[in-house]
Parts: sequence; structure tokens; C-alpha cells
Amino acid sequence: MGPEPALPRRGTGHQVVVELLLHGPLTRGELGLALGLTPGSVTRAVRPLLDAGLVHELDVVLGPGLGRPVTPLDLVLDRDVVVGVKITAGRVWGVVAGLRAEVLHEASTELSSTDPAVVVDAVADIVRRLLSRCSDRAVHGVGVSVGGQVDDVGHVSVAPLLDWVDVDLGAALRQRLDLPVVVDNDVVSLVRAERWLGAARDLDRFALVTVGAGLGYALVVGGAILELPSSARSPIAHVPLGIGDGVCDEGHRGCASSVLALSAVLGRAARALGREGASLDELLAAHASGHPGATAVVEEAAEALGALLALVADLAWPRAIVVTGDGIGVGLAGRDVVDSAMRARRAADAEPVTVDLQATGFTRWARGAAVAAVEAFVVDR
Ligand SMILES: [Zn+2]
Repeated sequence: MGPEPALPRRGTGHQVVVELLLHGPLTRGELGLALGLTPGSVTRAVRPLLDAGLVHELDVVLGPGLGRPVTPLDLVLDRDVVVGVKITAGRVWGVVAGLRAEVLHEASTELSSTDPAVVVDAVADIVRRLLSRCSDRAVHGVGVSVGGQVDDVGHVSVAPLLDWVDVDLGAALRQRLDLPVVVDNDVVSLVRAERWLGAARDLDRFALVTVGAGLGYALVVGGAILELPSSARSPIAHVPLGIGDGVCDEGHRGCASSVLALSAVLGRAARALGREGASLDELLAAHASGHPGATAVVEEAAEALGALLALVADLAWPRAIVVTGDGIGVGLAGRDVVDSAMRARRAADAEPVTVDLQATGFTRWARGAAVAAVEAFVVDR
């Protein structure tokens, strides 16, 4: 399928490809240093990649200091792709992405139910539709992300928002798609994308917080994702923040979910705006136009987010916290409140932490799933 020859999956050629993918463009000297190879070995590994059109030489530049001219190498990026799919309760979202997770095409489709057979059909359909738009590319695999507990072969033991227990999603999709399939927990795949190719790629320690229907959390330490025994449950969803008078479905007053989960924010938005079913966009528009009730809702949620980030900063010592998710709008609209609440709850001499609030759509989650497929290729999983 797609152009030949294929990228090498093993050996020194594979190492060179992975190093260029993650850190390219690189000179032969830089490749040798990074991979612990002699100049001769680098030359021997690179030549067939150049001859095959998998790697290309960039313009000559001067080496460091008064060094002699060198020729950086990089992967030829317009030939290899992966597909990423994010499953939510209402829709399936898909992207085709290049190996550096640049999104080339996107599509989504509505789900009539979360019945596993219906979802498998929808995923297979969206993958087919996306791939029909890039028939000249080499497709390396499909990454699928789902909010739940997923094992290495893609068996979903529990996915609360889909109402799934014991769904063999990986096997069902492999039967339908003639491609390698990786199924991953959605927060894990999002943090994977940040660690491999996102803003946090050069940080040895960072945290990811997601704000939406649930509150997700992941931590990367020394380049490794710390995985919870059960990724279906969020470790931060119910931490006490002591903010607001809301009560979560587990009976905690003022826990993170009671004030920051999307359903809690929308419940208060409905009361403030006097309209059942008010959306997050409506809340943010009312806040932007100076509606005092809407502003109070936004600022309370923003204060809760700041308090939550202060806890993450103090307990996990990340260098950066990436915050994203479909409920991030309250944090973006109330950014000043987020920052001041975080400052107020930390020691004056606390180590500063970069907080990166990223506006996001489900495309970003699908892109995270695509990165899981890139990683599967990179580590030859
Ligand atoms: Zn709670």
C-alpha cells in the first residue's frame, strides 16, 4: 500500500529515521553523536535512505563556530501518514496526520448509539473516508483513543462515558482494517502527543490536565508516562478545592468535579442565564458581553482551575503544565483569575511553572491518537 520502498522498521536505518523524526533536521555528525555511531556507520546507514528517497539533504550550512560547511538531513515528510481517531459518546473524530503529527485531513461522523458494533462501523467508515483522500501516501497505522481503561492489545475493560464494559475494540478494528491498530486511553494518547511532538517535547517532567466532561491528568517524568493502575478513573477529579457550594455525584462539596467539570459549569450557566441547556459558547459570549452572572460562573471555574494547577505544581513539580480539553474555554476567558488563584495558593518562593492553556477541539484528541500510531511505528510495536 502506498509508495515503496517503506521506511525501515529495524536496524540502524530505523534508528536514523526515528532520530530525524524526533529531532531533525540533523547533520551526519549530530546523528553520530545522538546514536553513538562512527562517521562511517552513519554514512552507511544514511546512503540507502537517501537513495530510496526516504531522507533528503537540506541546503549546506556552516557548522558550529568556524566549522566547515555541513549538510543537514531530514525525513522526506510528504509520503508517510497515520490515522488518528477519537471516540466520544456522540461523535467519532478522525484525522490523517504526517509522522510529525501535522494534520492533513480531518472528518467526523455522528454516532447513533455507543453500541460497540455501531462504533466499530463508524470508525472503519471514517478511516476509509480519510484514506480515500490520500491514496498516494504510505499509511503506517491507525491510532484510536477512548476515555477508559485499555490494555496493550486494545481491549477496553471499562469506558464510563460510552457505557462500555469489556469491549475488544482492538481486535474488532483489526478485523475490519487492513492496518496496524493501536488503541489507547485518550488522556494517555494526548500526553504522548505532547511528549513526542508537542510543546513539551524537550521537558523531562511535565503534567497534562484536561477539562471537559471529566477532569483528566497525566504526568511525564524522565520522558516516561506514569500510567495509573486504572486509567478509567481520574486521580484529580475529586480533589478537594473548597470552592463553590456545588456537590459532585459522589457527594463532595467543593471538589474539583463539583465546580470545574463541564456538567457543573453548564448547570450553573443555565441558572445564571435563566435558560436550560445553555452551552459553553453561550456562557462565554454572555461573559464577554459583561453579563455579571455569567462572569461569576466563569470566574469561579477559573479560580478552581488555578487552585487545581497549584496542587499539581506543588505535588508533582512539573516544569510545565499543559491544560486542554473541550471545557478549556472557562480557563481561557478567565486566564487572569487562573493565574492569580494559582499564585495565591502557592508559596511566594515556589518554583515557577509554565502553564500552557491550549484551545482545543476534538481534532487535537484525534491527533493524539495518531501519535500513538506514530509511536507504534517508531518503537516497532
Ligand atoms: Zn467529588
